[in-house]
Amino acid sequence: MFETVTPPEPDKIIRLMGMFAADPRADKVDLGVGVYRSPEGKTPVMAAVKAAERAIWERQETKGYVALTGDPGFLDAMRRLVLGDAVPAARVAGAGTPGGTGAVRQVLETVRRLRPDATVWISDPTWPNHPAIIDHLGQARRTYRYYDAATGGIDRDGMMADLAGVAAGDVILLHGCCHNPTGGDLTRGDWEAVAGLCQRTGAIPFVDMAYQGFGAGLEADAEGVRVLAAALPEVLIAASCSKNFGLYRERVGAVLIVTGEGRAQAAAQGVLAGMNRQNFAFPPDHGARVVQDILSDDALGAMWREELEGMRRVMEGNRAALAAALREATGSDRFGFLGAHRGMFSLIGASPAQVETLRETHGIYLVGDGRMNVAGLTAAAIPRVARAVAEVLA
Ligand code: PMP
Repeated sequence: MFETVTPPEPDKIIRLMGMFAADPRADKVDLGVGVYRSPEGKTPVMAAVKAAERAIWERQETKGYVALTGDPGFLDAMRRLVLGDAVPAARVAGAGTPGGTGAVRQVLETVRRLRPDATVWISDPTWPNHPAIIDHLGQARRTYRYYDAATGGIDRDGMMADLAGVAAGDVILLHGCCHNPTGGDLTRGDWEAVAGLCQRTGAIPFVDMAYQGFGAGLEADAEGVRVLAAALPEVLIAASCSKNFGLYRERVGAVLIVTGEGRAQAAAQGVLAGMNRQNFAFPPDHGARVVQDILSDDALGAMWREELEGMRRVMEGNRAALAAALREATGSDRFGFLGAHRGMFSLIGASPAQVETLRETHGIYLVGDGRMNVAGLTAAAIPRVARAVAEVLA
């Protein structure tokens, strides 16, 4: 079966992880892969997660199956976390999935099944797995302008002009916060404009929420998705707990579908159960149970929020420190956008050749499109990274 097969190109970020691991230089800096790192360079198990895991280990008496869409308590906790009280619970269908990627896949497969003629609109640029999954499913896709490379900000006029071309039933994929890879987020006014566009055209928004709590804060990061949910009859949501709970390898995510109360909600719930059944049957439980326990316990919840907020501040601090070091190294405010961006990522405007020079000459690893993970910075590395970026991008 495989003799004549050409395997797909390995994911560029996975390839980069391999190159970093093989690099013998002691002062190499990993600003590539999208995981949070503490100032000590660690991706820690959060204290609230440890405490919840300990309690589960003590209490759990069976590993028997739960339900095709996962534990309803987990889904309810995720609904509250993402949607707050923007819509009544009776309007929301949900399903647990293996990570945010699993949720993205289930949403896009639902679109494929129910709206095979719809076009999925993705930002230019976006997380590479978005177009990869859309293409794998054979769905049509188009891009909308998003990033203004000249300013490091959002090209909102270009975005709205491109999205004026959507047809009724088309799907607009948006990053809920902490846009990957650019770091540029929509404002409340932008979200309201998108809601108005969907109302006028009948397009359906699909919000990929992979970094809630990493941007401006847990509630502020959910503002956009809540604006859409309050205004529109249907919203598709993929949420990930990989980053904000540090549960990467446990694979915790959820699909949330905002739809009409009653028949539509029940139908959406049934579609999600069927989709899980065919793709993997039951979603992973352990990490989802940890999230459920943290979100439904006041003490654990407070512990988690505080730790998450600490992580957010580390990233904010790294951004400010790097922007200041670059201001000094370049004598200009050319990289000032680093301080305005949100979340782990920023596009720094480096060409593929410059990314290669940073890696080969300076041992500084960025993704090929010039995406930097600011969580990979440490106080010790910031001056060196600033000097290298200023020199290579001069
Ligand atoms: N969406 C986006 C935009 C992401 O950046 C990621 C993480 N790389 C995900 C979804 C899903 O991550 P995971 O499957 O690890 O939860």
